[in-house]
Amino acid sequence: MSGTPAPAPVPPAGDDVVSDGLGAVDRPTVSFELFPPRNPDAAPRLWETVRHLAGARPDFVSVTYGASGSTRQTTRALVRRLLRETSLTPIAHLTCVATSRDELERTVEEFLDEGVRAFLALRGDPPADGSWAPHPDGLPTASALVALLREVEARRCASSPAQAVRAATRPLSVAVAAFPRGNAGSGSTREQDVAALLAKQQAGADFAITQVFYDAESYAELVALARDAGVTIPVVPGIIPTTDPARLRRVQQLTGVAVPASVLEVLDAFDPDDPAEVARRHRAGTRLGVDLVARVLDGGAPGVHLYTFNQHGPALDLLEGAGLGGDAPRAHSRVATGAPSTPTPVPTT
Ligand code: FAD
Repeated sequence: MSGTPAPAPVPPAGDDVVSDGLGAVDRPTVSFELFPPRNPDAAPRLWETVRHLAGARPDFVSVTYGASGSTRQTTRALVRRLLRETSLTPIAHLTCVATSRDELERTVEEFLDEGVRAFLALRGDPPADGSWAPHPDGLPTASALVALLREVEARRCASSPAQAVRAATRPLSVAVAAFPRGNAGSGSTREQDVAALLAKQQAGADFAITQVFYDAESYAELVALARDAGVTIPVVPGIIPTTDPARLRRVQQLTGVAVPASVLEVLDAFDPDDPAEVARRHRAGTRLGVDLVARVLDGGAPGVHLYTFNQHGPALDLLEGAGLGGDAPRAHSRVATGAPSTPTPVPTT
């Protein structure tokens, strides 16, 4: 008997894991970010999470990629399994700064060979501890990676009419990152990142997903600045469920995005050692998230991308509260907050 636990079966396409992202024009998009399991023991739990998240009928599920390419195999394995065993649409994150151009081309080919048709093209950041350095032949920016993805796809289509037909029916989609308050991680301002976003669009990006943020105004300001600069692609707000203050503090360390004192004040008021208090904290934090979702949607955001940290509970409760749960018609409402929400206008294209 092998020591590896058998993965929980996930219903195949046609069973209860279905994507219903067809048609409904006014329905905001819902999507999730997952990371590949850190070890084989974590895989069954992740798959259980996938099963629960699938019930929300997401438009896509994105899978992170180590900045140094360290998760190349595990990211690929998870994306492959999502493709083969569910009807979810995976978006493979890909970073470029630590890998040579040749190696990147091979990686892109591998993903395309697997049937992956959507990528989130990123630069990736070298860690602060200097444990690795950018590759001398790597691509310097995410926009260069967008261009590479388009180039590889064009070459494949030119070399095979069958591939060209397949690409016509399932076009390659390329997403990129955007930063509501500038990219603290790489020390750039919002204006510099808007210039970078425009470069990504010009290289062939289809839409953007934002870094985590906590106030609807910073999202609205980013979109306004981007529209003024000529960015026309949709910008999907990336939202983290605000239920666990320890997690938010860790994300702050990783991304440089400060958690507002007002959020921590709410969450820190509960005793983390008392399960009843933790449950109350979960509800209070969910209400904060529901309010943020309502505000960005009222302001014109195309949908929400939830950072799940491979946990379905907080993400699904947030969607449920926002009226975006799996069985809901995705007309968002503010029912669960009980709080009036002031719409923050977001310019659309
Ligand atoms: P770029 O757009 O290349 O920007 C990097 C820096 O270069 C910025 O300072 C930018 O201002 C500057 N720059 C770029 N182009 C130009 C230009 N034309 N003119 C002037 N300046 C320019 N990291 C991971 O390692 N793995 C992941 O899976 C991952 N997923 C992410 C998902 C999302 C939604 C987001 C928002 C971030 C994610 N990251 C991930 C983090 C990301 O890799 C880092 O934040 C990185 O610093 C920036 O990536 P970028 O793709 O925006 O890079």
